[in-house]
Amino acid sequence: MRAKILVSACLMGHAVRYDGQAKPLVHPALDRWRQEGRLVTICPEMSAGMPVPRLPAEIEPGKSATDILLGVGHVRESSGGDVTDAFVQAARNALALALETGCAYALLIDGSPSCGSGFVYDGSFSGRRQSGEGVTAALLKANGIQVFSDRQIEELMVAAGS
Ligand code: SF4
Repeated sequence: MRAKILVSACLMGHAVRYDGQAKPLVHPALDRWRQEGRLVTICPEMSAGMPVPRLPAEIEPGKSATDILLGVGHVRESSGGDVTDAFVQAARNALALALETGCAYALLIDGSPSCGSGFVYDGSFSGRRQSGEGVTAALLKANGIQVFSDRQIEELMVAAGS
């Protein structure tokens, strides 16, 4: 049986983003993988008990997702609230689900402090992007799961053999 693909719930049309919106990705490969039962959908943040809507959150300036996982940085809401523990739990939940269900790949939306894999925001809540990854993406990668952003579905198709 071919390996499964963990996928961000908001990409699958679930309205789970901090602003109460979805960000659906339309692609024939996604339809096919769904029909084949290869997709495992999760919103890591909701799995850790975060509400919808919720305040936007960013990894604090100068820190990386790896720092967060090592306990030497924080994820903060726009109000300044510390949501580090919830983001780490979200990542652990996603990894546990991926391992339980046999996911070798993940297709995650870019830019999120959880799911981002190419860029994240710089922690100033000013809309400035920087290269980097979210906490969930970093933990998945560290455990051997190949992570692709929503802009890399063609690469995922090659890797996943479809
Ligand atoms: Fe989407 Fe991931 Fe944010 Fe959930 S945590 S809303 S799946 S980007």
